[in-house]
Amino acid sequence: MAEAGFVFIGNKLEPDTVKCFLCHKSLDGWDATDDPWKEHRQHAPKCLFAKLSKPQESLTVRELLDIKNELTSQAIIKFFDNKAATIKEEYNENNDHLISLMESLS
Ligand SMILES: [Zn+2]
Repeated sequence: MAEAGFVFIGNKLEPDTVKCFLCHKSLDGWDATDDPWKEHRQHAPKCLFAKLSKPQESLTVRELLDIKNELTSQAIIKFFDNKAATIKEEYNENNDHLISLMESLS
């Protein structure tokens, strides 16, 4: 399971839930005969790690760099998404404040 890129994120209610470290796809309800690589490719066909379908120790430097670039891209997008959400929230708060201020003046 770990070799296929999955990290355990389960709990008492979901004892077999795992999530891909790269694409963040979570899967549960595993059968003993399930192939983690096959399930990963089937449920996350765009995942770079699933597409490669190789254990970490078999990856080339180029493949490792591609995965690193994907992780970096995701971190940058998340950072700016959070910044954009914060700015939008601050804008709305300031806008509401200005509207109430203008209403109090009229
Ligand atoms: Zn994945």
